[in-house]
Amino acid sequence: MFYPELIVKTTSLISGQKKTLKGRISLKSIDVPLGNIPVVSNPVYDMQLIVVDDEVLVKGKVHTSLEYPCVRCLETVSMEIDGVIEAHYISEEKTNLKSEEEMDSFENVIYYGGSEIDLYDRIIEAIAVEVPEYVVCTPHCKGLCPYCGANLNEEPDHECAESKKAETNSVFDVLKDLKDNL
Ligand SMILES: [Zn+2]
Ligand SMILES: [Zn+2]
Repeated sequence: MFYPELIVKTTSLISGQKKTLKGRISLKSIDVPLGNIPVVSNPVYDMQLIVVDDEVLVKGKVHTSLEYPCVRCLETVSMEIDGVIEAHYISEEKTNLKSEEEMDSFENVIYYGGSEIDLYDRIIEAIAVEVPEYVVCTPHCKGLCPYCGANLNEEPDHECAESKKAETNSVFDVLKDLKDNL
């Protein structure tokens, strides 16, 4: 996706300048280690840029909501996400002027070449880091019946015909094995 409003032209930056970027991006889903998670409300961002010499400090936040399957019962769970945007852009040409120690003291450093900074990836990253490794619909979710897949939250008194069948089979299997070995 290309958002001209998220492209900062570094050639036009003046030291001491401050800039606010507010808006919304269109996003259907986000890729995280858990998988591809559907996005149900387009992310809204609010960022402040501060220019110091030819470095650009970016701070801000992003809000969106996502939909996950509960890890136990697979029901859809909605979750509000509040991400923190933080980046420190340093021109590639100027990196050799700084000592290694000085560079290490900066967090979230991004070296930019050319004359543009694209802030789109910062928004996506800020959301992605807030995505939990797994989600449960409630802490008491009973999950699914391991035999037939029935939702045990909806059927708390579930007595599984499949599990009885499985047990019965196993008893017969044991008897059959005994007989075969006689
Ligand atoms: Zn659940
Ligand atoms: Zn069952």
